[in-house]
Amino acid sequence: MIELLSSRAHDGPNAEGAIMKDLTQVVHHPKVSHEGFASLTVPTYRASTIVFDDAEAYANRKYRGPDGYTYGLHGTPTTKTLEAQLTALEQGERTVIVPSGQAGITIVFLTVLRQGDTVLIPDNAYPPVRGFCANYLEPRGIHHRVYDPMIGAGIAELIDDTVKLVWTESPGSTTMEVGDLPAIVAAAKDKGVLTGCDNTWATPLLFKPLAIGMDFSMEALTKYVGGHSDILLGSISVADVAWHRKLKDTTRMIGIGVSPDDCALALRGLETMGVRLTHMGRVSTDFAQRLKTHPAVASVLHPALPDCPGHEFWKRDFKGASGVFSVVLKPGLDAGLDDALSAMKTIAIGASWGGTRSLIAPMSVEGDRTVNPWTEEGRILRISVGLEDPEDLWTDIAALFDALVPAGKGA
Ligand SMILES: *Cc1c(COP(=O)(O)O)cnc(C)c1O
Repeated sequence: MIELLSSRAHDGPNAEGAIMKDLTQVVHHPKVSHEGFASLTVPTYRASTIVFDDAEAYANRKYRGPDGYTYGLHGTPTTKTLEAQLTALEQGERTVIVPSGQAGITIVFLTVLRQGDTVLIPDNAYPPVRGFCANYLEPRGIHHRVYDPMIGAGIAELIDDTVKLVWTESPGSTTMEVGDLPAIVAAAKDKGVLTGCDNTWATPLLFKPLAIGMDFSMEALTKYVGGHSDILLGSISVADVAWHRKLKDTTRMIGIGVSPDDCALALRGLETMGVRLTHMGRVSTDFAQRLKTHPAVASVLHPALPDCPGHEFWKRDFKGASGVFSVVLKPGLDAGLDDALSAMKTIAIGASWGGTRSLIAPMSVEGDRTVNPWTEEGRILRISVGLEDPEDLWTDIAALFDALVPAGKGA
């Protein structure tokens, strides 16, 4: 045998006083005292392998169940701290962390739906949900039907024997309609059908889907929980432990898990989410009200405005507003839009909202609406309010909208 690295000459005693050869020492971290170390932060525990005390513990590892530690893919104490904190905020029993918000949705669908089943999704769902249903589930014999997000108790008429899940999202992506979720839950329960909610806009601080009887509450942690535009994560919270087991079965069999480092960033984001949301909700509502009367604006889509479809449900069910809303331009103002957007100084152009930086994104929803065809001719701009000085933001926004109005008719 060729000795690539001889360490014998320098071998010394290890912490226990026994001699450990260097090549062994380098892979064994010495135990250090934790006495007196009291930190306010959650340690980031990284692991692929989990080791066992003895052969018997290894042999019996599967009996540890979905709450125990068996393999790094299924979670470390960092993951479980984030899960437990979200479970508490969602008033649920368990939470599963997944690699993205979209994965949060697809994992629920894949866990609940079998060949021949149908899922009902709202017309204003996050668009990749529609894509997943049409392009992934349909070829595998799982069907979907799209419903009017304002349907309320009328959802009962769409529930036949094949329907297993009613998916909701409120307010809906981009067009911001707020559905009557308690009415949908009541109708679904009456028919023995499961319900789930994409709660990303509100976060569990402004609305708690499980508290109104939903079976699944999903958050794109990527957005407000992460809060700094630097992680991708999703969560699924449930009130029934049996669903937790089934969701964990799905993630285990598919082989997906999340990075403990990302969970640590989500845990940090959670700590400031309350003050961020309060601020962003106040500023977004103020901007929405001011933009309503701007000559370039046809309408403003923001749940806190009385003319937003479902405003009364938002007032009844939600604790407040977050920072994302949309503005519909008057028709015919497209000519200068690209230049005006590119000239913005503080607000960045981008889609994945919820961070500290304000974003704006021109959206087109025509292709994503099949139940209620979108008939507004003007372009839609979606705005996500960040944490910059509101005066700087308003200067940027006013300049954008003023630039779109034909000369002489500015605000
Ligand atoms: C962004 C978003 C998602 C998806 O989250 P990702 O982590 O980007 O996959 C799902 N639903 C809503 C409402 C979103 O805004």
